[in-house]
Amino acid sequence: MKLSRRGFLQVAGIAGTAAAGLGASTARASFHTSLDAKGENENAMLVDTTLCAGCRGCEAACAEANGLPAPASDEAVKGARRETAPEVFTVVNAFGPIGHDGDDRFAKRQCMHCLEPACASVCMVRALDKTPTGPVVYHGERCLGCRYCMVACPFEVPKYQYDKLAPLVRKCTFCPSRQAEGKKPACASVCPTGALTFGKRRALIELAKGRIYRNPEKYLHHVYGEHEAGGTDWLYISDVPFEQLGMKAVRDEPYPDKVQGALSAPPFVMTLWPPLLMGLYAFSKRRDALNGNHHEPGGAAAEAKKEDRHG
Ligand code: SF4
Ligand code: SF4
Repeated sequence: MKLSRRGFLQVAGIAGTAAAGLGASTARASFHTSLDAKGENENAMLVDTTLCAGCRGCEAACAEANGLPAPASDEAVKGARRETAPEVFTVVNAFGPIGHDGDDRFAKRQCMHCLEPACASVCMVRALDKTPTGPVVYHGERCLGCRYCMVACPFEVPKYQYDKLAPLVRKCTFCPSRQAEGKKPACASVCPTGALTFGKRRALIELAKGRIYRNPEKYLHHVYGEHEAGGTDWLYISDVPFEQLGMKAVRDEPYPDKVQGALSAPPFVMTLWPPLLMGLYAFSKRRDALNGNHHEPGGAAAEAKKEDRHG
């Protein structure tokens, strides 16, 4: 493969962008600065798994709202443990029979929209960003495709379009444009059983604890997401252990502090990319010299311009 000087400059430009973005990322020393105490006033969702009927209407609504393929039929997914995917932002899986009543339980899975999202904390170019109202949004045009976010997420949520020529990271968006219009996220707007309640985080935690307090024999005394990974905007209550619903046992502390050290210090782009790029450039130059391709004076910019002229 011939690496032209223009190609080299383009790749080096990406490295420079990444380094610049890293500075921006590092400048966001902590999400605490942009959040209130515990994201209390952020928009959030309470999932009451005891009320979910497994109708998968939320999957269909999500697909429609996000221009995704319609979910597979009930028969096709029966008994299968499904994961989210680049074209599937949410899945509702059946577990059981595990209830005290001998019935199945159902659990919806999607991005948890963490208060201090590990995915955003490791993103060098701020392609993932925590918004003040709650959603963790993705800006594909900024994404370098490094996939650090996929490694960092304790809930294993972000998925990558490996089969695309210009791949993107994909995950639940929490419908920020609907929220901005004062609407519920699409999934909550169609839930027929009240299993999904959209509102302010503090109010939802009170609602969840109220249900547990009034039905102490029914519910586990735990609001999943209140503290997990430092707190998330998606909260769950259940009458069976959360592990039995396929939910990850994550630590209570925020994850950014843990993963930032491992992934971005020392910065990859500053330590490994420059020598790699210089090595590629030197190799290309030596091969050009051996092939008798002598570069005219005028510097890289002149040569890049010349290549532009000739395609
Ligand atoms: S669940 Fe994962 S992808 Fe979603 S906000 Fe948290 S760290 Fe990011
Ligand atoms: S919040 Fe919106 S994007 Fe996320 S699962 Fe629900 S409908 Fe889909």
